[in-house]
Amino acid sequence: MQKKDIKNFTLNEFQEEVKKLGVEKYRAAQLFDLLYKKGIEDFRDMLSLPASFRDLLQESFYISKVELIKLAKSKDKTEKYLFELQDGNLIESVLIFSGKRLTECISSQIGCKYNCLFCESGKKGFTRNLTVSEILNQVLFVKKKMKSNPNNIVFMGIGEPLDNYDNIVKVICILNSKDAFDIGARKITISTCGIIPAIKRLQERNWQIELSVSLHAPENKLRSYLMPVNNLYPLPNLIEACKNYAEKTKRQITFEYILIKGVNDSLNYADKLAKKIGGFNSKVNLITFNPTPGSLLQAPDISQVKSFKNKLADRGIPTTIRISKGDDISAACGQLKSLHLK
Ligand code: SAH
Repeated sequence: MQKKDIKNFTLNEFQEEVKKLGVEKYRAAQLFDLLYKKGIEDFRDMLSLPASFRDLLQESFYISKVELIKLAKSKDKTEKYLFELQDGNLIESVLIFSGKRLTECISSQIGCKYNCLFCESGKKGFTRNLTVSEILNQVLFVKKKMKSNPNNIVFMGIGEPLDNYDNIVKVICILNSKDAFDIGARKITISTCGIIPAIKRLQERNWQIELSVSLHAPENKLRSYLMPVNNLYPLPNLIEACKNYAEKTKRQITFEYILIKGVNDSLNYADKLAKKIGGFNSKVNLITFNPTPGSLLQAPDISQVKSFKNKLADRGIPTTIRISKGDDISAACGQLKSLHLK
């Protein structure tokens, strides 16, 4: 029998597994505590469990790990981790320090299908979804290193989280679980390029998580140019889906808008954006374009970013400017690509 990766199970699922082994249900929560709170990486070291249960676990399951291949540190303290998975694929996570708060930006896929014009992560195409365990291992690694949970988890690394929907939902259950990481839902952000069917599914869960939608253009044609996924899920339908989501969950949606010089940064676009998204609970997070190798796109001056922000604010749209970190080590948004120079 092939052994199963134990970190792919939510607590409910693992309780079923434990039952199948003929063991009491409460042992599942005990095991979660050992795995995720104590960070134990070998069943043989789980001495608080009965030896017979440890043997059963050993026969049926294994505990996976990621291997750190490279750690890059930015001048602003941001850290970028390059991890090797058990099948040799590489992924990246980024740890951002703001005061005492730690935000971990994690990857959800190997590569990305959506190939946005401004983003490095989709340039080499898509390989596969990450498993629940591979996603959790990014958080466990940081937890071990920092000796505490990251304060915030953002799905803004490589990949499109809502294209790996089932696994992301399980990951959030485990991050959120009191028996595992115990990270509050409001401390977890999903960032999506706008996969409408998945937004609708997520809405039914009525979770308190943060949802960020990468918008980047207030016009359908321009958005398709920047983000080919817009041909599949056009802007008007996406905004409608976001409105429904905000109304159903009573949560504010964040629209992310990268400002690219001469492409989408004129104040005319700020006006159009305000018209498109006004009228429901949303805000805009402006991001200055982070340069990627070989790209002809450029960042606007900070004065233009501020004017764009003021224009949106004048139109009643709450707006913040994202301070990008880690750009000197290619760890900023859109710069991750798991480049591995041995
Ligand atoms: N696929 C998801 C999550 C990954 S991208 C999404 O599209 O949202 C994470 C964030 O980085 C998004 O807001 C994305 O729009 C932004 N981003 C991508 N490339 C960028 C670049 N070159 N400069 C600045 N932000 C970028």
